[in-house]
Amino acid sequence: MSSSAPYRADAALTQHSVDLCQALLRIDTTNPPGNEREAADLCATELRAGGLEPVILESAPGRANVVARLRATRDVGKPPLLLTAHLDVVGVDPEHWEHPPFAGVIADGCLWGRGAIDMKNMAAMSVAVIKRLAQDRVPLDRDVIFAGVADEEAGCRHGSFWLADNHADLVRSEFALGEGGGFNMHLGNKNFFVVQVAEKGVCWVKARVRGEPGHGSLPRPDSAVHKLAAGIERLRRRGLSQRVTPVMRDFVMALAEGQPAAVKALLPRLLEPGIAPHWLKLLPDQSVARALGAMLGNTASPTVLRAGSKTNVIPSLAEVDIDGRVLPGTTTDEFLAELQAVLGPEFELEVTNAWNPMVTSPRESSFLECIHEVMAVREPDAPLVPYLMPGFTDATAFTSIGARWYGFAPVKLPKGMKFADMFHGHNERIPVDGLRWGTETLTDLLVRFAGVR
Ligand SMILES: [Zn+2]
Repeated sequence: MSSSAPYRADAALTQHSVDLCQALLRIDTTNPPGNEREAADLCATELRAGGLEPVILESAPGRANVVARLRATRDVGKPPLLLTAHLDVVGVDPEHWEHPPFAGVIADGCLWGRGAIDMKNMAAMSVAVIKRLAQDRVPLDRDVIFAGVADEEAGCRHGSFWLADNHADLVRSEFALGEGGGFNMHLGNKNFFVVQVAEKGVCWVKARVRGEPGHGSLPRPDSAVHKLAAGIERLRRRGLSQRVTPVMRDFVMALAEGQPAAVKALLPRLLEPGIAPHWLKLLPDQSVARALGAMLGNTASPTVLRAGSKTNVIPSLAEVDIDGRVLPGTTTDEFLAELQAVLGPEFELEVTNAWNPMVTSPRESSFLECIHEVMAVREPDAPLVPYLMPGFTDATAFTSIGARWYGFAPVKLPKGMKFADMFHGHNERIPVDGLRWGTETLTDLLVRFAGVR
């Protein structure tokens, strides 16, 4: 290797990231309650061993965030790059798992556990790579910050939002890299990687409806419970509006590129709002259809129902919690008006949590260009496609203090293994080779973007 060859991840580094991911998976950070402290301490210990000076910041007892800064070796005034990963995970139904969810078992070429792809893999890769860059004194001309945060899965309040509100100077960056993309999807014979440049906003609503109470022996067709059921049924039948955002237009056109003629002709019809719902019903893979549908419109999922307390009493009040997700370009008020129109005028809507869609990150930036360059070398046959994420991430918090966010936590999945199935699903796991590949990709990206060229 010549001395001018770029710094690359070696086998010891990729192994370190596998070991670290395994160790993090063995720490149960199910949120609620979160209890991210032990995981944050583990990251801090590793980083300290690399000569960094990580800080643990608790937003509440046990709700720990860890932040560390790998300093540029030469200061040319370039703003920092931020790597982010949340340390908490969603709950599990252990009886559905082939391997215990908090044991970090390696079997069938995969590392199993809750958080394996969402997203202790990114925490492990980031810590391992930053530590090594520090130890090997790789020349950098901008700072690289790592933020391992609490509470993403329950709304980010104890994590990224709290950091942005209380310690913005520690995590402020020009570009932020986090979850929401970096994985591949197979469509037909084509393989794509996605990078998240936009995400939907949140509007959680308590919808309440009233009716006359009475005795259960004397049914009332206009009871609160019947009205609630009818409203929910209208929501199921009509859904909310669809609108094509520029990101989705580009995404669909990029998917169509290189497909057989029939698919190439059909895919763009997804962009016609009247046609998309019918088109999606015909897709053989309904999990893909649900994801595409969510990217093409505002959505509202009824989740929690409340009414009554005794079997023989008709209650006067019935409530449903609705998880609303809002496309970029739609305001909370517009969303509520739309929801009200579907549920009906009798419903009272109370917003319990809302934030705006992430500001769409530019699809042309020096950092995104760098991701493209790295991927063009590593995966020349798989296009990298910008997309809109239907769920939320820590992006909103970090973009609120000035970062431009790209969801790209690199992982390579074999054909037949779908990111969407494992994301919050049973048997979450990551292919060990895919994690090694991700570590190499992240190293290439950091060296290319922050390294002295
Ligand atoms: Zn996540």
